[in-house]
Amino acid sequence: MERQLWLDRGFDLQLRYSKDRINAEIARLAAEISSDFQGQSLLIVVVLKGAFFFAADLVRELKVPVELDYVTLSSYAGTSTTGTVAIEKDLAADIAGRHVLVLEDIVDTGLTLTRLMDLLQQRGPESLNICTLIDKKERRQAEVEPKYVGIACEGGFLVGYGLDLDEQMRELSNIYEVRQTPGGVE
Ligand code: 5GP
Ligand code: MG
Ligand code: MG
Repeated sequence: MERQLWLDRGFDLQLRYSKDRINAEIARLAAEISSDFQGQSLLIVVVLKGAFFFAADLVRELKVPVELDYVTLSSYAGTSTTGTVAIEKDLAADIAGRHVLVLEDIVDTGLTLTRLMDLLQQRGPESLNICTLIDKKERRQAEVEPKYVGIACEGGFLVGYGLDLDEQMRELSNIYEVRQTPGGVE
């Protein structure tokens, strides 16, 4: 089991959201988004790397045509924010006049997304909304309001289903809260 692999390496993973739960939330989100944008097409902006798995599952459930584009931002080292947000790789598409939906893995303080939303807004999209798989609403420092939220969560550092701990554990199927075991390696 995927948990055991990391336990052996000194990380205790507590199951928070199973792939079944994630699938159910994605089906609900896809139905809502498809109904809101009926008769339109969407430009999906995937925030790499974390939202990659979420995006892959969500877009295949949508009932509206989509175009996919990707942006890479960075604000995190380890488990706490560094407070700086850099755009590492910009979009390829022109978003002017388009219905843009930004897909995120987690909105936490909101600092990362505020920066991105300001930038995208300046480019004149027809509409600009956020869909996040997980929302840590209580930790918000910036004014960002995802229109579509998969799961509201209180806290803890989560890994799996795209979420990483220093680039590790993204490939896990479920989402776990990670704790380092006493005497564990690293
Ligand atoms: P924010 O700028 O909203 O504080 O953080 C946004 C980004 O930080 C998220 O898109 C995600 O990549 C990362 N992040 C926030 N909370 C967590 C978490 O619990 N686990 C992981 N792996 N990344 C997180
Ligand atoms: Mg992210
Ligand atoms: Mg990360």
